[in-house]
Amino acid sequence: MKTVLSKRLARVADFIPQGTRLLDVGSDHAYLPIALVENQNISFAIAGEVVKGPYQSAVDNVLESGLSGQITVRLASGLAAFDAIDKIETISICGMGGRLISDILGQDVSKLSLVKRLVLQPNNRENELRLWLQENQFNIIDEDILEENDKIYEILVVEHGKMALSDDELLFGPFLSQHKSDIFLKKWQNELNKLSYALAQIPENHMTERQILEDKCKKIKEKINAS
Ligand code: SAM
Repeated sequence: MKTVLSKRLARVADFIPQGTRLLDVGSDHAYLPIALVENQNISFAIAGEVVKGPYQSAVDNVLESGLSGQITVRLASGLAAFDAIDKIETISICGMGGRLISDILGQDVSKLSLVKRLVLQPNNRENELRLWLQENQFNIIDEDILEENDKIYEILVVEHGKMALSDDELLFGPFLSQHKSDIFLKKWQNELNKLSYALAQIPENHMTERQILEDKCKKIKEKINAS
């Protein structure tokens, strides 16, 4: 039976180029590499996982899928899962915080020089990840946003290159903020509600704290309401 990906990972899979050599970092069940090989989108992948339990699940699933010839599972932290000899062209890092994703990429930026594409799905702090990418000569070439099980996820598709994002683009995403999909509006309305609630809890005499939240709320309102 073929592996069925969650909506989130299926959307990530859409950004993995046909025929690429993939490293999936934090590949706890190796679902993404298995589905991509089963569907003949790619023919080689490394599933990298740093924790033993999830690593073993990935090993078991790859064995069960009969794809051990095409998918190698490695117990390793981040970029340590591959070497130049693996000729990795695409790296996916999904389901982790934006800061952890930046830390993993920053482990050894020189190792990324021959990698053509990164497909990143941060669970939070997307703005920090965008800033890290900008400061390390990466360019966001596409973005996506989706909702699954009441959670909203962003996907960043990245290649080498320069970008100069405004503060707004760092926060809202250069592509996401242009398209302003219903899910994008929902995400930021939710965020606005949370911030407004937090603001209401801060005493009137805590001027600086209030000002920071008020500014953020204003920024979000402007983005939501701009045509
Ligand atoms: N990528 C899968 C997904 O999106 O469904 C799994 C997400 S799971 C929440 C995050 C996984 O990343 C965990 O299995 C964790 O052990 C692994 N992980 C965290 N830091 C890592 C690192 N530095 N190197 C490799 N794997 C890591």
